[in-house]
This record gives sequence, structure tokens and C-alpha cells, in this order.
Amino acid sequence: MGDSTGDLTVLEQSAIAIISTSDKCVCPDLQLSKNEGTDVNTKVIRMEEERLDRRLLREAGGIIKAGGLVAFPTETVYGLGGDALNPASSRKIYAAKGRPSDNPLIVHIADMEALDAIVREVPENARKLAEAFWPGPLTMILYKSDRVPYETTGGLDTVAVRMPVHKVAREFIREAGGYVAAPSANRSGRPSPTVAKYVAEDLDGRIEMIIDGGDVEIGLESTIVDLTVPEPMILRPGYITKEMLEEVLGGVEEDCTLMRADSGQAPKAPGMKYRHYAPKGDLTIITGDVAAVIEYINEQLDKRRLAGIRTGVIGTDETIGCYHADVCKSAGSRAEESTVAKELYRILREFDDEAVEVIYSEAFDESGIGQAVMNRLLKAAGHKVIAVK
Ligand code: AMP
Ligand code: MG
Repeated sequence: MGDSTGDLTVLEQSAIAIISTSDKCVCPDLQLSKNEGTDVNTKVIRMEEERLDRRLLREAGGIIKAGGLVAFPTETVYGLGGDALNPASSRKIYAAKGRPSDNPLIVHIADMEALDAIVREVPENARKLAEAFWPGPLTMILYKSDRVPYETTGGLDTVAVRMPVHKVAREFIREAGGYVAAPSANRSGRPSPTVAKYVAEDLDGRIEMIIDGGDVEIGLESTIVDLTVPEPMILRPGYITKEMLEEVLGGVEEDCTLMRADSGQAPKAPGMKYRHYAPKGDLTIITGDVAAVIEYINEQLDKRRLAGIRTGVIGTDETIGCYHADVCKSAGSRAEESTVAKELYRILREFDDEAVEVIYSEAFDESGIGQAVMNRLLKAAGHKVIAVK
């Protein structure tokens, strides 16, 4: 599967062209070498929501209109943008990410008026959800119009559409012509980037520009809702929860594969069938009573460390001091689960940075945004879960 992580190259210090174009511009962390087998000079610019730079936005939009690729910040994770209406751009996105081409892209728009041109019709439920949650971290699946190429939808007659709230994203989309296909800006299979440093690590030398907008707000990808089925169905959980959707629509179903590997069915969002978000180390989730979980994990850690294996733990502020791992990371406080959502991908990437080989994670409460956290964590662990008593 083109989902491998083995093709990532080790970063060296002989820098690529990082062109400073604004005064307090380039983050020194982004001084990276060109990935092997790539030949594009990746220009990195810095832009915050509070200080939009029209000239740079126009330049970024021009790259998209000319068929190039630009990574940009959104409130969920960084996106890898190309012209959604240009089949060649979508092919480039798949190539840059190493993404299987049956895994469709989300089309990002900046205005409600843009929706009509890319969908066959806008059903009443879509209007209601747009009114309640757009701009914001919600993606809707609708029937596509002829203007959307099959390259963008992975061969499907439906299209995923989202209107982000991030100001840089929206102005960039407008300058790019209004339709930006944008999956997460990581190499396929890796955790989605929540800071520009990790975009550069994966895509440096493969895309024309990275807009560094600092840390993202939410840290997990958008909620996806399918509105082409009789009962609206959640295909990927996110910040917009089932309860929030039900307040607007009444009944909402969930793809039964979201939290279970043993349903015997394929996930309804094609991308959800691939191993995802995975750190390089071997990750296992331990569930059960907190004291028993800590005891079990410490026993395992001691064994692994004796065998010379570099170990890591994902815990919480409340428990992290109890572990004996080489690298201990708190995902935040259990009292505030949205902090866990924001930290998860960064933590998974940091275990890679620190060459951790075996990782144990506590489980998190599955209510609210916790469902999205556990959905991603389960995927990152390849559904490896051990229950202790
Ligand atoms: P990403 O762009 O990396 O956030 O992934 C986009 C997700 O949206 C993937 O899981 C896709 O499979 C899913 N997706 C995009 N378009 C469709 C569609 N038309 N029907 C169902 N799922 C979709
Ligand atoms: Mg992704």
C-alpha cells in the first residue's frame, strides 16, 4: 500500500531553499534538507490570523491556480491544498502524500455561494448544518456536480465539502479560486501535522509552499457527516460531536466501524480503512482501573527496558509522574479532554523524534470529543488494546 512510512527520509542539516518573505518570518526549526527523490524548492512563509498579508496570500493562491501545491493552517490540522477542480492537481496531492488514489479529498470552500457549483443539490439538512457549524470543523458528504473531477473524489459520485473558520485558510481559498482540495498535510499513514515543522518534515521538497500559521486550534481532523444516505451518518468523529449534530438534525447514525475493528464491515469513508496516524514505535492502549493500568504498564516498561528497548508512555497530568518509561508524555488533564485532542498528534510525532520503540497509552473517556480522540488513538495503535483488572 502506498501508505508506508518507510519512504520518509532522515533529515539532515544541509538546508533547502527556505525563503524569508516577511519580517519575523521563518521558524528556525524548518531549516530542513530536501527529501530524496523530490525536486521542488519549498518556500515557507509565516502568517498569523491577526496579520493577514494580502500579497503573500495572492502568491499562494497563484500557485494553486497554476496547478501547484500549498500547505496551509486550518483550525483542525494543516491541509495540503491543490485546485480541487483540476484533475492534475489532485493527482499531485496523492503523489506528494504517497496516498492511495481511492482515498478521496475534502474540497475546502470559503463562502456558502461556492457550494452550489460543486454539488448536485444542497439538501435541507446540509443547509441546517451549514448554518449551525460553518465556517468550522465539519465536513459534509453530498452528491457531486460535473465540475468536480473523479480524481478529487477518488472515483466516487459524492464529494466531501468543508468551510474552515481559520482566517488564513479562508483568504487563501478565495485567492486560489474558491475550491481547494486539501487532505491533511502529512505523508500518508503518519499523524496529521498540528504545527508547520511537521508539514516540512513530511512534504519538504514535494510542494511549492508552506504557510506557517503556528499551532492549530483543535488538533484533530473535521467531523465527517454523510448526507447522501437516508439517515445522516457520522463517518469520522471530530470536534463537532454526535450530540451537537443531533441538536440540529434530530437522529444521526454512526458508522459502526468507528470504534471497533471486529465489525466485519469496511469503513464508509474510504480513508478510514487504512492504518493511520501511526507513530513509528509499537503502540498499545491499556484500559481498566487507573491503578491497575499504571501497575501493568510499569511492569511491561521494566521488562522492555531490561531488553534494551526504548520505551514511552502516554498518560495524563494526573498520572504521568507514576511511570518509569524513558519518555513520558502527558496528553493533558482528564478534567479537560479538548486538551488531549490538541496534544495527541504532536505527542505521537515526538515519540518518533525521540526514537521510542514501544509505547503504552492510557485510554480516554469516549464521550464528547473523547470519541474522536479514541478513534484516532485506536487507529494509531492498529486497534491493539489490552484490558487489565
Ligand atoms: P483527510 O483529507 O486526510 O482529512 O481525509 C479525508 C477523509 O474524508 C478520508 O477518510 C476520506 O475517505 C473521507 N472522504 C472524502 N471524500 C469522501 C466521500 N465522498 N465519501 C466518503 N468519505 C470521503
Ligand atoms: Mg489525513
